[in-house]
Amino acid sequence: MADDPIERWVRPEIRALSAYHVPEAAGLIKLDAMENPYTWPEALRREWAAVMEGVDVNRYPDPQATALKARLREAWPVPEGAALLLGNGSDEIIQMIALTLAAPGSCILSVEPGFVMYRMIAAYASMDYHGVPLRGEDFGLDMPALLEAVARLRPSVIFVACPNNPTGNLFDPAQVRALIEAAPGLVVVDEAYAPFTDASFLPEVGRWPNLVVMRTVSKMGLAGLRLGVLAGPAAWVEEIDKVRLPYNINTLTQVSADFALRHKAVFDDQTRCIRADRTALFDALRGIDGLHPWPSEANFILVRGPRGCAGEIHHRLQAEAGILVKNLHGAHPLLADCLRLTVGTPEENAALIDALKRIVA
Ligand SMILES: *Cc1c(COP(=O)(O)O)cnc(C)c1O
Repeated sequence: MADDPIERWVRPEIRALSAYHVPEAAGLIKLDAMENPYTWPEALRREWAAVMEGVDVNRYPDPQATALKARLREAWPVPEGAALLLGNGSDEIIQMIALTLAAPGSCILSVEPGFVMYRMIAAYASMDYHGVPLRGEDFGLDMPALLEAVARLRPSVIFVACPNNPTGNLFDPAQVRALIEAAPGLVVVDEAYAPFTDASFLPEVGRWPNLVVMRTVSKMGLAGLRLGVLAGPAAWVEEIDKVRLPYNINTLTQVSADFALRHKAVFDDQTRCIRADRTALFDALRGIDGLHPWPSEANFILVRGPRGCAGEIHHRLQAEAGILVKNLHGAHPLLADCLRLTVGTPEENAALIDALKRIVA
């Protein structure tokens, strides 16, 4: 098969990947993807539809998304001196950062278990990837190992998600600051779960020349819009902006996100409910013999089941209760026997707890 054109031309690192798998969820209670389970109130939907009626899709979008950026500055504590860059989801921002920095020998560093797209996008961009294991006890940063890896590998960029996915914990901010100071290149603090925690590095953008903070509207309840946001020093943001495709944020997204953020109080109420329900779900999980949940600052809970049972629990939740969760067993040694449960509505959480009591007991 030496003349197989796929083998001949497709890069080996791409052939070695498996495509990002999204399971079929039609008809299921969807607790696998950290979505906000609440839709918009009826009156807000109608108002939104009226706004959309006035949009002219024959024209290209505003390439700078000026109105939306101004709205984001109102909605979030973006320091005045910080520049903003928007992506088609924060996934696209990760890709833009990689495209900006990819060069022979250029390395992305992150922690593991962590967000899988950092590793995937490193492969897309032909960059090296190195994941430093978190501490087994509490999923905290292993600072000696991280600082050693930074000194040895000189990564062009370090990604840390805070709260972290899939572990749900925050990292010690003093340790993150030490990492920023030790880094030879860019440090991206990924705040995808900002709506579910009080901690944030966004107000600290500008304190270091190499810190950028990434956010998304996905987890607050706008996953369908695909909008990610990067805030950072203008010098970095201007370089990354050069690899952005000219009209990456479509008009419907710009107008819808601007509209939604004008009604941010609605989403704040929803995320406040999710935070309260997270506490109730955590307590209920802790009450089930054989389950060990970890405290979470995000809208999901990582839970360890009895040894060797994650696959069966995952399968039976779907088959017997119509509930889709994420099985993480096999994804990383620290995630053995683990499942990740997105916080749903109180009814969905109750159905999940009922089913888990039946399956695990
Ligand atoms: C979900 C998630 C994202 C992706 O967000 P999108 O804006 O939907 O692309 C980024 N980082 C982390 C850690 C996430 O969990």
